[in-house]
Amino acid sequence: MDDCGYVMAGASLLLMIPVIIITAMILSLGEAHSDMNMERKLSACVEGAAWDIRDNVPIITMDVLNETAGEAINGTLPSDDVRDLVRERVQERIDRLCRSHRNVNASCRVNSVEGTEAPFQVEVNSTLEIRAGNIEHAENLSVRVTVDGLPDPLPFRVLGRLEHSNTTIEYGDALAEYLNSSGVDGGAYINAKGPLIIRRCPYEPYTSHGSEGVHACILNGYYHESRDGACYLCRLEGKTSCPHMGLETFIIPSKELGEAPVSIDHVLFNEKYTGEALNISGFIIYLDAGHMTKYGVRRQ
Ligand SMILES: [Zn+2]
Ligand SMILES: [Zn+2]
Repeated sequence: MDDCGYVMAGASLLLMIPVIIITAMILSLGEAHSDMNMERKLSACVEGAAWDIRDNVPIITMDVLNETAGEAINGTLPSDDVRDLVRERVQERIDRLCRSHRNVNASCRVNSVEGTEAPFQVEVNSTLEIRAGNIEHAENLSVRVTVDGLPDPLPFRVLGRLEHSNTTIEYGDALAEYLNSSGVDGGAYINAKGPLIIRRCPYEPYTSHGSEGVHACILNGYYHESRDGACYLCRLEGKTSCPHMGLETFIIPSKELGEAPVSIDHVLFNEKYTGEALNISGFIIYLDAGHMTKYGVRRQ
């Protein structure tokens, strides 16, 4: 090789260096790019799992409340601490849901299932944590679930098994006997009827009911907010009154006696005071002055 040959070889070697550097840069850029892609994928997985769990907490809770109320109605509810039972059952179902998200590490601790100042709602508080690779997501999740549409377990917890259709409880002798055994004349409540399903009364303010509104409430089995009535979770526990904001509904007697215990569930199951007979478009109900005022009904 002559001098010229050496120079050419040296020059081509020199030319190779930038090519090598550029290739290395492209390769490392590609790697960074695929890292970013991976990260994006993981973060989409985490986000997807978070959305799915958020969406399902209320559905699962309503399902558990419905199932637990069903057990109260059939007399097969296993424990007295129903709040904790509900929380445990919601937790079990959410654990299953978390495990179904296989590409992330998801956990959701159900801290409490509790009533709210709005008695048609139950609140579920939980802590959600999801991890995938370096991506971490944590949030405190607080969702409200409506009890509108769920069965009312309280009459069954107080009186035991009762006949019922899909919408109505037929009290037979049970309520009358229960009143008699509490030292109150229950004669008017033989074959009384009341609603099975909690349905929120749409007539607000309540004073706007009047006789016509109350008639619609009786036909539809509507429930109303009440300080004196038990809340949904306490109803599941068989408590006839509680310190929480609660619910009340009409229970319709079968006899007109002039005077009888007031036809409101918390009065019949708990306080038992007398009211006077009112004819609401053919239905006889007994109301005291307080409930007449509440529903805007006049003494007849
Ligand atoms: Zn109403
Ligand atoms: Zn309560």
